[in-house]
Amino acid sequence: MMRHKNTNKHFTRMGTRKKVHAFVRVKPTDDFAHEMIRYRDDKTIDIHLERDTRRGVINNQQTDWSFKLDGVLHDASQDLVYETVAKDVVSQALNGYNGTIMCYGQTGAGKTYTMMGATENYKHRGILPRALQQVFRMIEERPTHAITVRVSYLEIYNESLFDLLSTLPYVGPSVTPMTIVENSQGVFIKGLSVHLTSQEEDAFSLLFEGETNRIIASHAMNKNSSRSHSIFTIYVEAHSRTLSDEKYVTSKINLVDLAGSERLGKSGSEGRVLKEATYINKSLSFLEQAIIALGDQKREHIPFRQCKLTHALKDSLGGNCNMALVTNIYGEAAQLEETLSSLRFASRMKLVTTEPAINEKCDAERMVKNLEKELALLKQELAVHDSLANRTHVNYDPMDEIQIAEINSQVRRYLEGTLDEIDIINLRQIQEVFNQFRVVLSQQEQEVESSLRRKYTLIDKNDLAAISAVQKAGLVDADGHLVGEPDGQSFGFGVASFTAKAGKKPKSRKTMKEQPSSSARKEGASSPVSGKDLDIFTSKTQLTPSSKDGDVKDMLLRDRETSYNETLPLDTPKEELHPPRPSTPPSRPVAFEDFKSERGSEINRIFKENKCILNERRKRASETTQRINAIKKEIDITKEALNFQKSLREKQGEYDHKGLMIIDEEEFLLLLKLKDLKKQYRTEYQDLRDLRAEIQYCQRLVDQCRHRLLTEFDIWYNESFFIPEDMQAALKPGSSIRPGMLPVSRIVSLGEDDQDKFSQLQQTMLPEGPDSISFYNAKVKTEQKHNYLKTTMGLQQAHRK
Ligand code: ADP
Ligand code: MG
Repeated sequence: MMRHKNTNKHFTRMGTRKKVHAFVRVKPTDDFAHEMIRYRDDKTIDIHLERDTRRGVINNQQTDWSFKLDGVLHDASQDLVYETVAKDVVSQALNGYNGTIMCYGQTGAGKTYTMMGATENYKHRGILPRALQQVFRMIEERPTHAITVRVSYLEIYNESLFDLLSTLPYVGPSVTPMTIVENSQGVFIKGLSVHLTSQEEDAFSLLFEGETNRIIASHAMNKNSSRSHSIFTIYVEAHSRTLSDEKYVTSKINLVDLAGSERLGKSGSEGRVLKEATYINKSLSFLEQAIIALGDQKREHIPFRQCKLTHALKDSLGGNCNMALVTNIYGEAAQLEETLSSLRFASRMKLVTTEPAINEKCDAERMVKNLEKELALLKQELAVHDSLANRTHVNYDPMDEIQIAEINSQVRRYLEGTLDEIDIINLRQIQEVFNQFRVVLSQQEQEVESSLRRKYTLIDKNDLAAISAVQKAGLVDADGHLVGEPDGQSFGFGVASFTAKAGKKPKSRKTMKEQPSSSARKEGASSPVSGKDLDIFTSKTQLTPSSKDGDVKDMLLRDRETSYNETLPLDTPKEELHPPRPSTPPSRPVAFEDFKSERGSEINRIFKENKCILNERRKRASETTQRINAIKKEIDITKEALNFQKSLREKQGEYDHKGLMIIDEEEFLLLLKLKDLKKQYRTEYQDLRDLRAEIQYCQRLVDQCRHRLLTEFDIWYNESFFIPEDMQAALKPGSSIRPGMLPVSRIVSLGEDDQDKFSQLQQTMLPEGPDSISFYNAKVKTEQKHNYLKTTMGLQQAHRK
């Protein structure tokens, strides 16, 4: 049954379809209603009701019913009942099939007697103790398997779950609430104790303990045990003793004693009793609904979760289970109405089809062991083959570092051309060779990248020749500002702060680093310091107002002392000596690369994308222009040809008899062509106009993006590396200021330009603009409050303990 496949994913061997076995057990009585209850054969029970003449409309009142079941147990001994109802279900459980046996019926009709039996009399013991006995007997008979048995005993009363085998003294449902949990393995009750029992006796003790607990609890809670459902579960797990067998089977047998099924209202229940009755009737009618749904092949959804009873039994009703139902009825005429309703339930149950299947699982530990064995065997086999092929030196173990290093060197030599061939030894080695190719390749890529980076970052600001070379390469414009490369690739940033013509700076680029003190420039001009160092320096002076103009060189040296090893020559590029550390501000170009791949990645991506679009549109525009020119040319040629044809015709004076001009085919075709060309021209021209508009728009977008990228970078750079410590603390996570926002104290000290920049910064850093500040602040505060509550609650709990 497809709709049950979620209940247990481990069954593999599907069985054949089976119906639920539904039996009726009639409670012995001296007052059996022979007139009303008749057995047609040992499976069919007929009910006959006398017409009730006191009722008004009697003609359409049904008086006869017939129920065909799997067996009618009249005056049957406990032994016979077990043989008929339970024996097969239990024996199948040891083969891995789940089983469910339920007793249903009116209170007093014999459910508990059938399930549990009379505990004081061995002969009258019910299905439960007999099932346990059978399980242990079968285990003895099956020495080929190691079989474990576990049991649990659950009671459901007024939609609350009780563990009848709880090792703790009874404390009520609120302290250890149990929950019904579903996973791929099926349904289980979280919190329900499951007890390993190695022999029959243990199992019996648990069973009795459960019964006792049930009675004690019913007294303690003043509850009527006939109004609760109880589910005794036997869990079986059978492993083959043959170690090579990785598969093992599991199963569970649910033995369910349902609450009394009598209808409400008859007894005029009140208060607690009414509440109980409502719960029972609800859960039983939910059980019935589930049963009806299970019996209906067209139904996709089975309402298992409506109550605890059906939820707990979800994977034990229908599905892959062997199922048996005993409907206990009275034989007396007075109970006929209830008897009828019980029989109806039984016949509905009979419609349910199940598809019993083995719950087969795989023992991972055993599997590993078996695979290891297999591996060892195959290695031996390989060794035999190698020795026959004279390849005795070959080793198939995983390679160690030295061997890998050797392969790496082989690959390098091979790439350099100093090694002609790499010897193939075995598959593992081939794989490693390819691996090392990849390693070498990525190393080389990195080397190329970093050498390129060095090339762009290490230009001396005073080296005018170098700068002009860079300018020629299109990296800086005449003002020394960096430009995005027109081909859509990333752009360098090395000498961004260099200003060849001071005072010609555009306003928009008036950022901190572009206001170096005159002395800084003077010093820069006379000292052999690389551009990036000057960059760091000028930025730093911005935020350390105490530095005096004359201290430039000192400061530079100090800066180096704190950042680098003092024995290093001043102009050694630091990347070659130290990897960049967070405490050492990286040069702007390097930082810019970082920025683009991290914080600025999104805008950089948009920037690049827009540039790509722009370039593509430009290309298309130029292609279109070319096409237009070609068409224009063609039009001119065609026009000329037409004129020639026309003049020719005029000379010949070709007219038809009506005086109309006769056009020959050639001229006609030329006319058509001209028309067509003009149409083409118009379409292309329209395209070109659209493209131009688009290009203009894209150009603006690209400019905007570039501007934003640079502005954000500036902010990020200064903030990341040049913000005083007190402010950095404020920018740490947990403070109400996000990175990207500046504390209020900072705004006050900002100049007018900086104020502008600050609001701009807020807009760009907070994705939703300045309005989102309160949102983020509230969020942070809520988080803090939540954390506070968590801590204090934790403290209180610890205190209580
Ligand atoms: P239920 O659990 O359905 O409410 P019980 O199993 O408690 O009913 O039965 C009520 C009483 O009838 C008990 O005293 C029980 O021993 C007795 N009884 C029920 N069925 C039988 C039976 N088949 N043979 C002998 N006594 C029975
Ligand atoms: Mg009972």
